[in-house]
Amino acid sequence: MKFSNANSKIDALKNVPELAHYLQGKRKVYSFDLLSGHSCPFAKNCLSKAVQLDTGKRKIKDGVDTEFRCFSASQEVQYTNVYNLRKGNFDALRKMQTSDDMAYAIAHAMPDNAGIVRIHVGGDFFNFKYFLAWCKVAIDNPQVLFYAYTKSLNFWLKAAKVDAIPENLVLTASRGGRLDHLIDEHNLRESVVVHSVDQAKELGLEIDHTDELAAIPSIRYKSFALLIHGTQPKGSEAADALKLLRKNNVKHSYSKKPKKVENKC
Ligand code: SF4
Repeated sequence: MKFSNANSKIDALKNVPELAHYLQGKRKVYSFDLLSGHSCPFAKNCLSKAVQLDTGKRKIKDGVDTEFRCFSASQEVQYTNVYNLRKGNFDALRKMQTSDDMAYAIAHAMPDNAGIVRIHVGGDFFNFKYFLAWCKVAIDNPQVLFYAYTKSLNFWLKAAKVDAIPENLVLTASRGGRLDHLIDEHNLRESVVVHSVDQAKELGLEIDHTDELAAIPSIRYKSFALLIHGTQPKGSEAADALKLLRKNNVKHSYSKKPKKVENKC
């Protein structure tokens, strides 16, 4: 299993004063990723997967309810190294029987100089054991800040009920999943994908361009917006919104380099 170096968006966390102490002594930002869509049991509006064809090539497959395509799935189609790394992580974890085994494997793979870890630029918590594994890793590494977006809200709530989520694991409910009703019922802080700056304003949400709103522990209850980005299905509302953002020169994308994989969710 392997962690990934920070992409350009999450690497910008090193310029956030509130997070500076996590990165003292040359500690760095990393992510840990799984295959997008395949590992997201509660994805709905964002659901897309990279699927292997008999020819050895890959293509994107959207779900029946896809409204905005998962950007990290598109990148898994495009970049073989990204696909293989995430598949390797997902396959290894899926074979493990207990959350202790998973936690041990994750901790073993985590670079010694990790200061901030984004759990899943690609992927989600695919079962409760895996969710608990990350709680254990965070408890055992209190000097590291872990943060994640998730649509697996049932695992979050189940873990919270038994007080399993430590302070250094900051979570955001990612709206657009099959369990969205739990966001409202439990007043979870959320991120909402918006099509324009005006839409964010109407919702009264600040736009997070750098992942800092997702990561800073002291604002863990503040909801925020993410501007639509990536490659969207032709003819969809999301594709039209993206065109308009480009036309108006609104910042909505963070890198075009192959190895710098952008964020989804
Ligand atoms: S956006 Fe997130 S939850 Fe949705 S398919 Fe992609 S990785 Fe999974």
